[in-house]
Amino acid sequence: MNKYLEEAKAMLPHLQEMQQQIHQFGGIRYDLRPSADLIIRELKEIGLEPQEIIDCGIVATVGGKKPGKTVLLRADYDALPQDEITGLPYAATNGTCHSCGHDYHAAMLLGTARLLKAHEDELEGTVKLMFQPDEEFTTGAKNMIAAGVLENPKVDASFAIHIEAGTERDTVGKVIWSQGASYSAADRFFIKVKGRGGHGSTPHNTLDPITALCNAITTSQHIISMEVPAKERAVITIGQIEGGTVANIIPDTAGASGTIRTFSNEMRAFCRDRLIEICETTCKALRCECEVEISPDGVPPVINNVELAREIQPWIEEICGDNHYTAAEPLSFGSEDYSWISESVPAVIMTLGAGTPENGYIHGAHNPAIHFDPECMPYGVATFTNLCVNYLKNHK
Ligand SMILES: [Zn+2]
Ligand SMILES: [Zn+2]
Repeated sequence: MNKYLEEAKAMLPHLQEMQQQIHQFGGIRYDLRPSADLIIRELKEIGLEPQEIIDCGIVATVGGKKPGKTVLLRADYDALPQDEITGLPYAATNGTCHSCGHDYHAAMLLGTARLLKAHEDELEGTVKLMFQPDEEFTTGAKNMIAAGVLENPKVDASFAIHIEAGTERDTVGKVIWSQGASYSAADRFFIKVKGRGGHGSTPHNTLDPITALCNAITTSQHIISMEVPAKERAVITIGQIEGGTVANIIPDTAGASGTIRTFSNEMRAFCRDRLIEICETTCKALRCECEVEISPDGVPPVINNVELAREIQPWIEEICGDNHYTAAEPLSFGSEDYSWISESVPAVIMTLGAGTPENGYIHGAHNPAIHFDPECMPYGVATFTNLCVNYLKNHK
């Protein structure tokens, strides 16, 4: 067995202890103080010097004894605003739930910090550890970049791991990554239609915003079916719609909101522009006014650096053997604010299998009943460690 994996496996009780505490603390966005304190305490105990560069955004470096490049490892550690129903003895009870597994991410990065410190002499360069708040509302990575996480020392490449359970591919310890687009861009939009209301029996005396809105929504799917090339992937979903009060009154206004998911910046801009154009012109043809607002809090797609994604394959095999999968297709239609990192430096995000339905892990991410198999953690720790050691050796 690989020596890093062997050492990471011996660390499992400690990894679980940290993961369970962070799990129980829960907390959303930047409200992560107990977990932040745990992370800082642990990093200091390992012998590192953590810095809190934004509220609950923590950075520490290890290595640097020999000159070389700098690798950034990223873990998020925020939970979601939902009531946990896992029934676990360490379940959070404060209306938040670690249903995306970010508690595991933080514990694995703390384990990696300890392992890297023990093997500091093998590092031909520096490893920077990033513990970020607010992944779920997609501002954490962006704010840490603004606060300088990619500078001093300047980051040359980055890796991140997201654990995953509930599907057949999630064998414990399986590392999956794609060579290119990985997670989708996500853009929320709001459609507001203004007409002129009146009696339901005399629509000819009104400008009906409901009919106009429905036509705009239906026509917007034309973008996906006829305008996005078949080899691309894109989704436009309307998740919410509202208008009117009773059956026999035509209202003055109607509205809807939804999300656009795309896997390249070009397709992202195209779908946004065409959605606006189609909604506005369709409503205009039906004598209503329409305004489409695209939320400024959207995130770009996560694009794995293709060269780096190829380079790391043998290093992952050293840890996982055959229990890995890499391909050109994206990992997920979900979004990840690691996109801000992958936009700035060559980066690869991987998923780590943490339980299949066959073994009783039936729930997926963001389900408040989700369970993960803790045995996945040593694989994350050893993978991170091996990637850093080898990347720095290869890029002197
Ligand atoms: Zn999530
Ligand atoms: Zn997540």
